[in-house]
Parts: sequence; C-alpha cells; structure tokens
Amino acid sequence: MGPNTILIGNQSSGEGGDKTERPLKMAARKGNTQQRLQLEHKENGGRTWANMVEENKLATKGMELRFVPPTIINGEKFAELTHEDVKTENEKWKFALIGYMVGDTPTIAAMERYVAVQGNFETKPKIYYHNAGYFVINFSCEEDKSQLLCVGPHMMNNRPIILKPRTSDFNFDEEELKTILILVKLPNLPLSCWSPIALSKIGSGLGLPLYADDCTTNSTRISYATILVEIDVTRELSNIVKVKDPQGRMFEQALWYDWKPIYCPKCLQIGHKCQTEK
Ligand SMILES: [Zn+2]
Repeated sequence: MGPNTILIGNQSSGEGGDKTERPLKMAARKGNTQQRLQLEHKENGGRTWANMVEENKLATKGMELRFVPPTIINGEKFAELTHEDVKTENEKWKFALIGYMVGDTPTIAAMERYVAVQGNFETKPKIYYHNAGYFVINFSCEEDKSQLLCVGPHMMNNRPIILKPRTSDFNFDEEELKTILILVKLPNLPLSCWSPIALSKIGSGLGLPLYADDCTTNSTRISYATILVEIDVTRELSNIVKVKDPQGRMFEQALWYDWKPIYCPKCLQIGHKCQTEK
C-alpha cells in the first residue's frame, strides 16, 4: 500500500468509520494481516502532511483522470459504475485465481516456483500478493488456469494452498473463504455416468462442479472419476451422494477427498477448529 491509500483513509475517517472497521474485521481472521496493518499505521503516524504531499509529487504520472459528477439519490452521493466502466479491468483478470495459504504466507518468488512446476503453461502466469493475505495468480488463458486447478490438492511446506477462480465481485476485504475448490474422487462410478451432464448432476449434489480431470474426460483411468467442485466448507463434507439411474434405481455414490479442509465456525477461518466449550 502506498501513501495514497493512507491519505484517502485519513480524509474520510471523519464521516465513514467503516474504512477502519473493515480492515480490523479482516485482521481478526488473519493474525499476520493485523500486524501488517498496525505497522502501516505506525509508519503513517510519523509522517507529516507536507512530506506526504511531497511523496505524492514524486510519484510517476500514470493514467489521466477527470471529474465525473457523482450520482445523488435521496441526498446520498455515490459513484455509479456501469458494466462498461469495469469491463476492461475484468478482462485483464478473466483467468485469475485467488490463492490463500492456510497458516502461513510464502513469498511471491516461492509461489512462482511452486506454480511453475505444476503444469506446461502456454504463458508464465503473473503472481501478485495482496496485503489482505491473498495471492492473485493471473493466467492468460482458460487452459493454463484449469491445468493448475486440476493437479491439486496443492500443498507447500505441508500446508494446503486454497485456490478459487476470481469472480468480478471478489472483495479482498469481505471475502471469508467459505466456498473453496476441492477435488472429489468418485470411486467405482458406473461407466454410464462419465458423461459431462451426469458428472455435472452428481457434482451439483456437493456444490458447483467446474471440471472433470483429464483422465476422467478421456476415460484413461476407469476405477474412479475425479471432479473439481466449489464447495461450501462451513458445513461438513458429505461422503456420499444419492443418484437415481434411468431405470429408477437409487444408488449411493461414494465420495473420496485427498484433502478435507477444517473450518472453524468461531473464527470463520479455514485451517483449524477451536475447541468447543463444554
Ligand atoms: Zn478458531
């Protein structure tokens, strides 16, 4: 975060207290974020307006901006954005993944090294770190993105890395990482059920199915199918899904997980579970 961000925060602190509230809410979930924020506030405290303005002057000139009158409804003033206004930026992050490592934050270089060996990517993905504790891994095409997603579960130094596709409404402040991508194996899945629609229907019993892996798609391995599903982890992961076949017979399809996240309902965080009081 540069001095710009801090300046804006100070200016608005008189009217909108939410600016400070939200980072604190985040910090409660991730200890390291809190430390970082405190550090930033301290650094800021030692600065005077004069040298902050001076710093701003030195900044390299970038995009040119202009005044656009805010919308006012019922006396409330706000900046009104259209789909058109955010289109170009959403395009830039179209194939981005959000990554979060439970319990620790590796360096960007370590993350780059890890990602590089996970697939044969057409273009090397760009990796960014966000102070809220997330990595953004920006791929240039859908194939590269799905390659990384499908070779999980991802672990670094024995700690799981949680990945999820970035959506246009992803908010670093409010994100609570309750829905994450999990690889689910379907052992002994009847061979008639390996079509995209059958796998989609079965996966929808767990969450939002995104992909089947290569071996499932090409039927090169037939003892189990693997699908990648976005699942709400605040509820216990199911070990079966009930299926009714075209003959009207019900069967229970077993589900295997290589990695099951632990979710703490008290801290609203993945990675541990506080002991419940007796
Ligand atoms: Zn907890």
